[in-house]
Amino acid sequence: MKFIDLSIPIINPEEAIFDPPLTTPHIEYSDHDTGAEQIGFVFPKIKPEHLPDGKGWAVENINLGTHSGTHMDAPLHFIAKGKGIDRMPFDATIGPARVLEIKDKECIKIQELKRHHIKIGERILFKTRNSSYWKNGTFNKNYVYISLEAAKYLASLKVRLIGVDYLSVGGKDGIETHKILLKTGIWIIEGLDLSKVKPASYDLICLPLKILNSDGAPARAIIRYRR
Ligand SMILES: [Zn+2]
Repeated sequence: MKFIDLSIPIINPEEAIFDPPLTTPHIEYSDHDTGAEQIGFVFPKIKPEHLPDGKGWAVENINLGTHSGTHMDAPLHFIAKGKGIDRMPFDATIGPARVLEIKDKECIKIQELKRHHIKIGERILFKTRNSSYWKNGTFNKNYVYISLEAAKYLASLKVRLIGVDYLSVGGKDGIETHKILLKTGIWIIEGLDLSKVKPASYDLICLPLKILNSDGAPARAIIRYRR
């Protein structure tokens, strides 16, 4: 069974604006000619003419926020002395996960959640109309978010992981929403593209970069349909 990539690509803002200003990525691309010069800096005896076809390596320089693109929030994002992303247990993001389709166009509410009979400890990914916004390339402020009450409900169920298909779990009460989830020990993936995914049960693998004592990190997330 094929894996489906849920991650949005990290790209320069000239190509699309996905991220709020603080997390706007910047990638400095370097071609193989520049790479040949760089090799000369590292190994002064090696001139471009010594290299196959005169070409060197390609090495990009990237500038990212911890919340650039598809990323994870660790408890430390809002909880003082909370765990950093480098201390995330692998079983938070590797294992069975359920994609739930949310019909509400404003926010995720308890009433709609109850219909899905979420069980204690489940990994839940919310597919909302947000997933259709990615192709627009601009940030849409009217994204579907998790209501404060729904966050409390999810915390009471002690779900293991929550994934959302836009750049924040929360709306105007976003800080409170984050705190409720993070202090319960729920790990959060933000910025998933679920546009090609049907609501069902899947195997999830999501691994954030190991950045020491960091409040979060960009992540790659993939799923595979689970029979
Ligand atoms: Zn967040």
